[in-house]
Amino acid sequence: MSSSFDPSGLHTELFIDGAWQKAASGATFPVENPATNEIIAHVADGGPADAALAIEAAGRAQVQWGKSTPRQRADILRRAFELVIANTDRLAAIMTAEMGKPLAEARGEVAYGAEMLRWFSEEAVRIGGDHTTSVDGNTRIMITKEPVGPCVLVTPWNFPLAMGARKIAPAIAAGCTMVFKPAELTPLTSLALVQIFREAGLPDGVLNVVTTTSASSVVETWTSSGIARKISFTGSTQVGKILLRQAADNVMRSSMELGGNAPFIVLADADIEKAVDGAMKAKMRNMGEACTAANRFFVHRSVVEEFSEKFAKKISELQVGNGAAEGTEVGPLIEQKGLDKVVSLVADAVSKGARILTGGIRPEGPGYFYTPTVLTDVSLDSELMNTEIFGPVAAITPFDSEDEVLRLANDTEWGLVGYVFTESMEKALRFSADLEVGMVGLNTGLVSNPAAPFGGVKQSGLGREGGKIGIEEFLEYKYTAIAI
Ligand code: ADP
Repeated sequence: MSSSFDPSGLHTELFIDGAWQKAASGATFPVENPATNEIIAHVADGGPADAALAIEAAGRAQVQWGKSTPRQRADILRRAFELVIANTDRLAAIMTAEMGKPLAEARGEVAYGAEMLRWFSEEAVRIGGDHTTSVDGNTRIMITKEPVGPCVLVTPWNFPLAMGARKIAPAIAAGCTMVFKPAELTPLTSLALVQIFREAGLPDGVLNVVTTTSASSVVETWTSSGIARKISFTGSTQVGKILLRQAADNVMRSSMELGGNAPFIVLADADIEKAVDGAMKAKMRNMGEACTAANRFFVHRSVVEEFSEKFAKKISELQVGNGAAEGTEVGPLIEQKGLDKVVSLVADAVSKGARILTGGIRPEGPGYFYTPTVLTDVSLDSELMNTEIFGPVAAITPFDSEDEVLRLANDTEWGLVGYVFTESMEKALRFSADLEVGMVGLNTGLVSNPAAPFGGVKQSGLGREGGKIGIEEFLEYKYTAIAI
C-alpha cells in the first residue's frame, strides 16, 4: 500500500445520520499541507443548521444504541481496530499531509489510536455494576451503569487520529451516541476514521461529524441543545473554560484534556544517557506540538553542562523536512501563528539572557519550519516558562536543591505531566508523590498508553482517557433500592 497522500476515495462532506452530505450553505474550506503550503482538499464548512441536524440524529439514535448489546459494540470496535491497522499507510499519509508530522510518527499514532479501539472493544463487555445491602438489612442496593447519553466531542489538530479514537472508542463501548467536531486544520483524518467506523458496522446516527470553520457556533448549538448530556474536549485551557461555562447551563458531564507546562527534571544522580533519550522523546515527539511535551527543563547544576551538550548534539543531528519524505525526523509546525509564537518566545528568552546551543533558525522557503533548538541559562521570567511552547524548543534552567526544583516545577497553574530522571528509588518516589500532576514519567519521556489513565490536575483538566477508568467518563450510575 502506498504511503503517499491520495485524496481519491476520501470523503470531504459532513456525516450526519449515516449519510455524507454537503453543508446546508454549500460552503467549503481549504485544508493546507503545512510542509508545502499547498491546498490538498476542500472540506464541507458546516454551520449551526448542520449542527442541529447532527445533534438531533444523535438524540434519535441514543435510545436504540443505548440498548445495543455489549458484544455488538465490542465487535464494531474490534472490526474498526482491524480496519485502522489494515489502513495504516493510508491514514498515516493523510495525517502527514494535513498536519506535517513525519510518516514514522504518523504510523506510530495510527498504532496508538488503533490500540484505543481494541482496548475499549475489550472494556465494552466488562462494564459491570455493584450490589450490596443497606446497613439496617432492609434494602438490597443494586447499582447498574448506563450510557451518559449523546456526547459532544471536540478535538485538536496535533494528534488528528488518536484524539478522535480516544473519545469515540469509550463512547461506543459505553453505548453513547456522538456529535464530533474535529479541528479545522486537520479534518481529513477524522473523516477517514468515520468512514472506517461506517465500514465496521456502526449504526446510522451513532457518530455524526461536522467539519467547520465556525467552531464556536457549531459547538454552542450542541451544548445548548438540551439533547447532549456530555462534552469531551481536548484543546487549550482557554477554550476548555468557555466550554465548561456552556456545559454548566445544561449541567452536562464534562471531560477536559487541556494544556500542560511539563517540567522535565534531571537530578544530580541521573543516568545522563537515559535522560537525554527521554528528553528527545518528551520534547521532540510531534515537533513539540503536544500537551505532554516537556516545556521546562530543570537540570541539576552539577550535570547541566553535560546534559545540555549531549542533548544539543542529538537535536542538531535531527533531519528536518517534509514529513512525507522517509527519513524525516522533524516536520513543520502546523501554521504561521504557531511558528510566529515560537520565534517570539525564543527572542524573548534570548533577550533575558538565554544562550542558543543549537537551532534558533527559521529556514527560508515554503512550509512552517523551525530548526530544533536548545536554549540554556533560561531565566525563570522568560515567557516560555509560563506558556506552552508547542514547538521544537527546549529551555534549560539549572537548579541546586530538590526542594527548590519541586517548588519551581509546581509553580504553574497546569498539572498534566512531569518527567523525573534519577537512579534513586527514594527520590523517584518522592518526586512522584510531590509533583502536582496527573501523570509522572520516571526515567521515561513517554507516558501515553491505552492501558493508562491519561489526564491532568489543576487547569490541565477534568477526567481521564484510557485505562480501566476511561469508560467511566461515559457511564452514569443508577441505584435501585429493593425492599427485602
Ligand atoms: P489549539 O490551540 O490546539 O488549536 P484550541 O483549544 O483552539 O486549541 O482548539 C481545539 C479545538 O477546539 C478545535 O477543534 C477548535 O476548533 C475548537 N474550538 C476553538 N474555539 C472554540 C470555541 N469557542 N468553541 C468550541 N470549540 C472551539
